[in-house]
Amino acid sequence: MILSNQYATFDWAGTRTEPTPLQSPLLLLLNRPLAEALGMQLSEQQWLDITSGTRLLPEMEPFAQVYAGHQFGGYSPRLGDGRALLLGEVVAPDGQRWDLHLKGAGKTPYSRFGDGRAVLRSSLREYLASEAMHHLGIPTTRALCLVGSEEPVYREQVEPGAAVLRVAQSHLRFGHFEYFYYHGEAERIPALLDYLIDTQWPDLGKDEAGYAALFERVVERTATLIARWQAVGFCHGVMNTDNMSMLGLTLDYGPYGFLDGYDPGHVCNHSDHVGRYAYDQQPTVGYWNLQRLAQALSRLIPVERLQQAMDKYEYALLSSFSESMRQKLGLMGWQDDDPALFRDMFTLMAAQKVDYSCWFRRLALLAAEGPLPEPLLALLSDAGAWDDWFSRYRARLVQEGQDPAEKVARMNAVNPKYVLRNHLAQRAIERAEQGDMSEAALLLRVLSRPFDEQPEFDDYAAPAPEWAGQLCISCSS
Ligand code: AMP
Ligand code: MG
Repeated sequence: MILSNQYATFDWAGTRTEPTPLQSPLLLLLNRPLAEALGMQLSEQQWLDITSGTRLLPEMEPFAQVYAGHQFGGYSPRLGDGRALLLGEVVAPDGQRWDLHLKGAGKTPYSRFGDGRAVLRSSLREYLASEAMHHLGIPTTRALCLVGSEEPVYREQVEPGAAVLRVAQSHLRFGHFEYFYYHGEAERIPALLDYLIDTQWPDLGKDEAGYAALFERVVERTATLIARWQAVGFCHGVMNTDNMSMLGLTLDYGPYGFLDGYDPGHVCNHSDHVGRYAYDQQPTVGYWNLQRLAQALSRLIPVERLQQAMDKYEYALLSSFSESMRQKLGLMGWQDDDPALFRDMFTLMAAQKVDYSCWFRRLALLAAEGPLPEPLLALLSDAGAWDDWFSRYRARLVQEGQDPAEKVARMNAVNPKYVLRNHLAQRAIERAEQGDMSEAALLLRVLSRPFDEQPEFDDYAAPAPEWAGQLCISCSS
């Protein structure tokens, strides 16, 4: 059921803005299973009309939200939906409420110097990544529809314009709260918190205790989200506070990347010259960002309560990450020296730039006894350096006495075989720019079952080719 736009009733929190229709739009991808789950039975023409901004449904009230944010450490007082519009809300048959958000819909009062558009390259990257993350079981916004066009969009070069219709339980960001706090309108913040409580967490009270509990949930969700990113080798690339979701969703896919060869300091965003958002910085940045949110809520929640919530961050993140590692290594129980086993593994992986996803996937082939499996050895440049580690790990396997087949099945259920490596996305983008969506559709299909063996698509699970290292992924989108 499509509802009107409840957020748009906060006329002080943004601006009613009509989309600017894309020229000669073409429906490129439609996420039918998601549309069905949302209970949205629309024709292809309707999806095309909505996503291209040509004709919305009568219930929709397009609204550009205002927000601010700390970008690369510096405060930007006014950002907002510069090229996106909140169209309205949907209540799915299962009762879950969703925001419909159209990205690339044209200029808004928050466009600053931008053109309000998104290019096909970045729109497809967002579509692919959000669906890949969803199927990995990592909280994320979802992609519902992708429309291309012949409209030229000017970036470093001329590129085709596009738009993505995406959905999330909420698109509220840390930056929404920062905006009102720093604009001297902190009295507006309770209305936004109440909206979040009404729509997401109705068990919370709309009072100081409820707001404190809400902040604690944001802390815990952010911590576990980042632990999940670390465990799967995902780098977000632009963890500005305006890209941080209040619901702990992966939000705003830009120059993201999945680790290929393990490099803890990997920076996926070529515009990030100091490595502020390097892979190994993400946990610390998450904390820093939560501190910015805490500041914005400091008129409503006593500082001790904010601190108490912040104190839960490190434990939540580390316990989630260690639990993931235990599972990824196929261990059932805990031993005191397991942290050292993990740490030494990462040291060796870093020294030999071992492919992150292949390593964990192929580790399942290693039994407690017998020869070392060839596919695992093929990932190592100096297998001899691993002798000690292999014998410690195998000793752990012997100690646990697990059924070998069950161990393999459990490991395969948590170590994805297929992740969205940059070169796979790039191949799909190049084909899409030539008008051929078949590679994107195929890639989506493979990534929708990341833990399953799909032998016919083995090359999608291989380490990145040489040329992938040359790919330059920047903020330009
Ligand atoms: P992003 O890097 O996509 O998270 O965007 C950061 C901010 O810049 C947000 O306020 C966006 O709405 C805005 N923005 C990014 N690209 C454009 C564009 N082409 N036109 C207008 N605003 C944009
Ligand atoms: Mg953003």
